[in-house]
Amino acid sequence: MADLMKGKRGLVMGVANERSIAWGIASALAAEGAELAFSYQGDAFGKRVEPLAASVGSDFLVDVDVTNPASMDAAFAALKDRWGTIDFVVHAIAFADKAELAGRFKDTARENFKVALDISCYSFIDVANRAADLMPDGGSLITLTYGGSNRVTPFYNVMGVAKAALEASVRYLANDLGPQGIRVNAVSPGPMKTLAGAAIGGARKTFRHTEANAPMRQNATLEAVGGTAAWLCSDYGNCTTGEIVTVDCGYHVLGMPQSENI
Ligand code: NAD
Repeated sequence: MADLMKGKRGLVMGVANERSIAWGIASALAAEGAELAFSYQGDAFGKRVEPLAASVGSDFLVDVDVTNPASMDAAFAALKDRWGTIDFVVHAIAFADKAELAGRFKDTARENFKVALDISCYSFIDVANRAADLMPDGGSLITLTYGGSNRVTPFYNVMGVAKAALEASVRYLANDLGPQGIRVNAVSPGPMKTLAGAAIGGARKTFRHTEANAPMRQNATLEAVGGTAAWLCSDYGNCTTGEIVTVDCGYHVLGMPQSENI
């Protein structure tokens, strides 16, 4: 690896364990020389994140529930105290009640809709606002989305709507923050074997289906998703904003499954 991120510091939100997409991104950023802070959700995840952070030379951990503004205040105050400014934030956070990730979209409950949109979309707007205050010389904001935002995929349901709202937010935030030199992009991996991924009904079938049909006949790797985020956080990404970058071994270009599978 090179020193693509040398001299840059930032926050990675959403590591739950070593399979997390946020961890794939953190590993790539650290390998390129970035200095990292991590947010985790509650003590149970904290215990898992601590050794992972230590393995990339970080002891900077903050406990954040994105629905709790006091925890967000504390996290961004800690970043300001320790570093003054930051160069990037990775937001790899989503949630929907499991009941909504099975069955039919039309049955989505109002309360679950609000929670899914709040945690999976609004939290990125909140993060962007807070991060922008610590980015006087510009920076890069990354979130994670999935192709279920604009095409129907099995049981993705309310999360598809949340990701569509998140992708639109990427474009509006990119426009608002562009004059300040802050770039806002989303990475859109194909299905990955993570805690959040496993919560979606039929996750294994979806994983196998994309593997069998993607032009490259494989699913995305944590390394490739991490490397894409690292590019977007690095100076090589300096003229890219408002973009949804797909990392799915080409699955999104298909109109039908491969001939061997129909
Ligand atoms: P993951 O379970 O490893 O990570 C999800 C993270 O969200 C966890 O760390 C969890 O603590 C955090 N989170 C949920 N609610 C929170 C809250 N209220 N406050 C703070 N943190 C909260 O799963 P993942 O698959 O790595 O998910 C990361 C992102 O990638 C999500 O946005 C997900 O939608 C997206 N994504 C996942 C896949 C996939 O197939 N796994 C594909 C495309 C995009």
